Amino acid sequence: MSYVDKIIADVEKKNAEQPEFLQAIKEVLESLRVVVEGDSAYEKAALLERLVEPERTILFRVPWVDDSGKVQVNRGYRVQYNSAIGPYKGGLRFHPSVNLGIIKFLGFEQIFKNSLTGLPMGGGKGGSDFDPKGKSEGEVMRFCQAFMTELFRHITEHTDVPAGDIGVGGREIGYLFGQYKKLKNEFVGVLTGKGLTWGGSLARTEATGYGLVYLVEEYLKVIGDSFKGKKVAVSGSGNVAIFAVQKAQALGATVVTMTDSSGVIYHESGIDLDTIKEIKLVKRGRLIEYANIHKDAVYKEASEGKAWDFPVDIALPCATQNELNIEDAKTLIKNGCKIVSEGANMPTTLDASLYLQESGIPFFPGKAANAGGVATSGLEMSQNSERLSWTFEEVDAKLNGIMVNIFHNIDDTAKEYGKAGDYIAGANIAGFNKVAQAMLDQGII
Ligand code: NDP
Repeated sequence: MSYVDKIIADVEKKNAEQPEFLQAIKEVLESLRVVVEGDSAYEKAALLERLVEPERTILFRVPWVDDSGKVQVNRGYRVQYNSAIGPYKGGLRFHPSVNLGIIKFLGFEQIFKNSLTGLPMGGGKGGSDFDPKGKSEGEVMRFCQAFMTELFRHITEHTDVPAGDIGVGGREIGYLFGQYKKLKNEFVGVLTGKGLTWGGSLARTEATGYGLVYLVEEYLKVIGDSFKGKKVAVSGSGNVAIFAVQKAQALGATVVTMTDSSGVIYHESGIDLDTIKEIKLVKRGRLIEYANIHKDAVYKEASEGKAWDFPVDIALPCATQNELNIEDAKTLIKNGCKIVSEGANMPTTLDASLYLQESGIPFFPGKAANAGGVATSGLEMSQNSERLSWTFEEVDAKLNGIMVNIFHNIDDTAKEYGKAGDYIAGANIAGFNKVAQAMLDQGII
């Protein structure tokens, strides 16, 4: 049995109940065959065995009191996966679907993503099965305070710097930061995605969506094309989706779809982003309200339609994992889609991403395409260390430079390993090489 097959079999045996984690491990390790199976140094140092096992996994209970006075108990997680190239860095997700397997899949992916940014950040991820939907302001605040009441003893600005993810936006980061500061009596950059008056970075809110579009823009530039006149399908209507739509529209594209977990909007003449922002960022409402305002838009329940059902040039999945399956991939190709780039983490199933690649269209995996968010978190950490704030234009220009570099890094790496145009392999190998070298340099730890 080859080295990679041995590791996959071992991970399957030990983590049979964690399908998303296994999916992420298989995708990455398949790409690494060409690197690790030709050089016995990796096996000798048990490099893959160490890479797939988190350095530390923290599980904790989060007791809090709801508005009716009832005590609620949720589960909290922080997986500190790999610190070879910098402090653990990765978001916190609050969603009822959160479990250890999902946090491990996200933390594992984060190692390679953070490496690709070129910044000194290790990989980690955390969260809770708490559902912020329908909770009052007071309940969200008390939950965040309870969550940090345990997490604070495991993180510092030098060891582990969490950020937001699904269900954790500026409001939650504020409550988490406030509690950390109170418990430690320290004002330090221990979280990113902070408010602008208390250590946050300009352009962090926009960064993941903007970065996603910058990476595709660079690919288009290389082939002598641009976003101008392109039809784009976007899924999701949260942080990543909204700012991907904003940048794509600014570059001349027409975005025709957005979704939430209840349904999909198709607006052939182009999504009105101001309406989306009002519904999602101000009222925290549902997407169906869009169709009440724009009568020429079509709304379908999630069980009846998806963002991938319509003719578009570019598809940007920006909601959640496994939201674009093999049937969706076939529909996209049949309808003439020419590029798929992941704003969310692992939104495309493994068979769908292979089908897209085999169909000959570029497929950009999330660990490269959505790295702009964590990259800008890295820039927020730099600003906190300097005790300075950079202008929006400065941060945005650095973000653009990072995404352009990521595109060329994964493109060049894929070519170097005889896999030209395979951006999954390019991203996995480029991300891995830097982390692996650091692990080898630092000995058996
Ligand atoms: P938000 O919570 O702001 O938005 C998530 C969006 O996806 C919402 O529209 C939500 O709909 C929808 N959604 C969530 N879960 C599901 C589900 N199970 N089925 C269908 N739709 C769903 O999250 P973000 O925009 O921050 O994150 C989106 C994705 O991008 C995630 O995969 C995240 O890990 C990834 N990502 C985020 C980064 C960031 O900087 N925020 C950085 C890198 C990656 P509803 O409102 O109905 O729940």
